[in-house]
Amino acid sequence: MKAVAVIPGKANSVHLVDMPEPTIDAIQNGRGVKVRTKRIGGCGTDREINHAEYGTAPDGYDYLVLGHENFGQVVEVGANVREVKIGDYVVSTVRRAGTSIYDVIGENDMTTDDVYFERGISRIHGFFSEFYVESADYVVKIPDGLKEVGVLLEPTSVVEKGIIQAYEIQRRLKVWKPVRAAVLGVGPIGMLATMALRMRGFDVHAFGLSQKPYLNADILESIGATYDSTKDLSIIKAGKKYGDFDIIFEATGYSPIIFDAMLALNQNGVLILSSITGGDRMVDQIHADKINQSFVLGNKVMVGTVNANRDYFVEGVEDMARCEFEYPGWLSRLLTHPVKGIENYLQLFEILNKGGASGAIKAFCEVSGLE
Ligand code: BGC
Repeated sequence: MKAVAVIPGKANSVHLVDMPEPTIDAIQNGRGVKVRTKRIGGCGTDREINHAEYGTAPDGYDYLVLGHENFGQVVEVGANVREVKIGDYVVSTVRRAGTSIYDVIGENDMTTDDVYFERGISRIHGFFSEFYVESADYVVKIPDGLKEVGVLLEPTSVVEKGIIQAYEIQRRLKVWKPVRAAVLGVGPIGMLATMALRMRGFDVHAFGLSQKPYLNADILESIGATYDSTKDLSIIKAGKKYGDFDIIFEATGYSPIIFDAMLALNQNGVLILSSITGGDRMVDQIHADKINQSFVLGNKVMVGTVNANRDYFVEGVEDMARCEFEYPGWLSRLLTHPVKGIENYLQLFEILNKGGASGAIKAFCEVSGLE
């Protein structure tokens, strides 16, 4: 079967490989699920891996099959699989267990291991192949009604983790009823964070660089969020205009903005950081005293979040289903740039390489058609 791989450490090495089709016996205890890959989403992490900034091959291989944003249909199941059956649509989680206590208790996304295992990113082949095999433990069923947008579940799971973790942390307050949220960055993560917060009834204010008219702004406003360009309204001024934010979800990839966000955070607020910034940018002129004092006097929290365990994928399915009911077709507006056929993978990377200039919200490859 065909798969799309890179040679980790070698820039622009993305290429097609021919691999044996995986079999369910690769998974122990009759728990194997074989999936025909339908769609693979492209993301900044894939671009970085292809730029040799990131990514590790599995032991015994010089290449790494890419693809962590996945969606497919079950074609075969092992004798001990009850969760899904042939014909079901599924999405698989990304991170696998390491050795830390968090991995041992199934919280792989909270690992403290320096060496971690993620399909398509670190030490395990990804899903960007015609078929993949996975343990039923890591597979999440997608209702047929979400098949058009199922490929958005993995990025949604990352958003869900951030938001749910904020609530977990704030259990310390006994009562926490956040009402106003800011989302910084309107790439796929920012768009999906806005959706997930709107589904929870938040008054959501999203911010990006582009000025209106802007497709992403139209899409966000159609679910009741506001959109402002930070060229017109800084985050600090936005806190004054709309009221300080109880939750700020940062997804710009531009780390200096977090210092402004700290100041626009309400008392008892939570700032969730989700950008993986591989550079070594430095900033000066930070309002250190003001930030420090507001955090101390306001009991504020800043938390980083990465990856997502299975529970967050399940929460993601629920929010996506709710969104599809309330705003039919909204999620599919995010799937702006389809690339048909695995052999056309280079088109996907051309779009990813252009970054924001491509105009894409989510580019994805249709590995096989939806029936
Ligand atoms: C993926 C996460 C992963 C992270 C770090 C992101 O693009 O969505 O699942 O944990 O990269 O490798």
